[in-house]
Amino acid sequence: MRNVSQENQGQTHFEGRRYFPISQYFRHRFGERVAKISVSVAETCPNRSPNSTMEACIFCDDWGSAAYHHEKDRELLDQIRHNKKLVSRRLKSELFLVYFQSYTNTLDKVNILQQRFETALSEEYVRGLVVGTRPDCLPDRIFPLLNKVCETNYVLVEIGAQSFFNDQLEFLKRGHSAEKNIEAILKLNQKTQVDIGVHLIFGMPDETPERLIETARIINQLPVSNVKLHNLHVLSNTTLAEMYQRNEFVPDELDVYADKVILFLRHLAPNVAVQRLAAIANRWDELIAPKWTGQKMGPLDFIERKMKEAGYYQGDLFDQNQKPLTKIPSLIF
Ligand code: SF4
Repeated sequence: MRNVSQENQGQTHFEGRRYFPISQYFRHRFGERVAKISVSVAETCPNRSPNSTMEACIFCDDWGSAAYHHEKDRELLDQIRHNKKLVSRRLKSELFLVYFQSYTNTLDKVNILQQRFETALSEEYVRGLVVGTRPDCLPDRIFPLLNKVCETNYVLVEIGAQSFFNDQLEFLKRGHSAEKNIEAILKLNQKTQVDIGVHLIFGMPDETPERLIETARIINQLPVSNVKLHNLHVLSNTTLAEMYQRNEFVPDELDVYADKVILFLRHLAPNVAVQRLAAIANRWDELIAPKWTGQKMGPLDFIERKMKEAGYYQGDLFDQNQKPLTKIPSLIF
């Protein structure tokens, strides 16, 4: 199944919304509402693995972004069935995608990944997989497996790019470069049939309007069907928490963050779906700052309302002739 929906190209009204939400993208693609079931299966990532000389990313807590971290000791099938009930209480969906969310989900041996994928797809209400990973963890050996699954099911690989600027990636202690982000996206696109999503973090030092626009233009040039936006926020037991205590990092207020997201969205092509406009802290007790990240829908409503009041839409400043300053190779393999 191929990516990058063209059907929304040129559309500026998004069925009453101000941006192209992933729910609409999935509805166009599957013909009905589809929801994600998050599971925690992977146990580590390159930064956290016992032999690594790298540090954990400054924002990452011990659970590696897991939505239901307390469930990681359950069998995969148990997690899927249990979490489906939780999701179904909130969303009226009949179809689901299993989201391998925590840590890095392409690190294990291919036969282990295959078992996990087959287990997830064995439930009749599951229509596909969402696989969270890093740009430097996409070895060639997993591509045949991804392509095999794509023959019969939808697969979305979400890459934690976070930024396309090396100083910001160093600040986050990601351990990969901006060039690696671009290389991974192009390689995945050339060698597989998966849909590609990109995670981005806003709210870092040295984040100028020019950089936000450049980020949108880079995404516009890449084979990316969707983005997920996070505001950099402070969780306890993280390096960022220590920096926050020393006054070395101040998180954006909602108003400031909203302006950044809006600027980015206005330059983003209208056919790139948006999974989320801001982070939602799953573990409230761990959230130190900003407090607005603890509200589930409030910040999203705030940003969209602000766009509405100003008459803005995703892509209203998009110009397909405006290329990024960053060089994007057309073919690199
Ligand atoms: S954010 Fe991802 S890559 Fe970074 S330390 Fe956490 S789990 Fe590892």
